[in-house]
Amino acid sequence: MNFYCANTDFKKADIIICGVPYDGTSSFRPGSRFAPDAIRSVSYQIESYSPYQQKDLRNRKICDMGNIPLPFGDKQLALNIIESFTKKLISKRKKLVAIGGEHLISLPIIKNYHKLFSDLAVIQLDAHSNLIDSHRGEKFSHATIMRRTAEIVGFDSLYQMGIRSCLSEDFMLPKRKENMCMFDFSKSDGVIENLNGRHIYLTVDLDVLDPSIFPGAGRPEPGGVTYKDLIDLLKHFKTLNIVGADVVELSPHYDATGVSNVVAASVVKEIALLI
Ligand code: MN
Repeated sequence: MNFYCANTDFKKADIIICGVPYDGTSSFRPGSRFAPDAIRSVSYQIESYSPYQQKDLRNRKICDMGNIPLPFGDKQLALNIIESFTKKLISKRKKLVAIGGEHLISLPIIKNYHKLFSDLAVIQLDAHSNLIDSHRGEKFSHATIMRRTAEIVGFDSLYQMGIRSCLSEDFMLPKRKENMCMFDFSKSDGVIENLNGRHIYLTVDLDVLDPSIFPGAGRPEPGGVTYKDLIDLLKHFKTLNIVGADVVELSPHYDATGVSNVVAASVVKEIALLI
């Protein structure tokens, strides 16, 4: 089953959706490997038109490539497969919208984009800074993903928004006082001004949303933004050159109501319309 309206042939498509069903380092509430299929199945229950952006999925050329076949236990192998699979799409200058999976899946994708665009900046919407150097001995983990990302693109080029779970040590890292927007998106205007003209990768950890509207998070964190806040921010991004994006960290079975799946599908839709 494809994401709703994502039925264009690969060659003709501008935007590629692919599922990245990996959750091997999830430390709290695993299960995000089931998210891509959960999101696709509810995508048929949302409208193709976005009144927020006044755009329609039916007018976009989107190809859903399905899920990348990944092992569950071998992390390095999984990362290698994600890197080589997405490299092929990105080298053909397609805009990728990857559906996780846990947050570590962003790393091989960002690596590919950075090889192609040396000026790449990363915007991360997330409750968590994910800046620690290692998590229980693991250098590559959903909890270290932004530290590893900063090592690729540079701390100057990592912009973090909505952060409300971090360590005091984070603020000792370069540019965190300027480039880490705490709690909400109120300081995003300056960030957007800085980033005009650059190639941007957008990574959306859905736990940036408040758990009251998104309880299906792998690591829920109280005090989050509303769905409207998120959409307003995405609308502000319309002047940016976003070349790829991901939506990660939905763990579907932790929300028995299924509402989190609908929220996630709506975010994927808005991003596919934005980029
Ligand atoms: Mn997070």
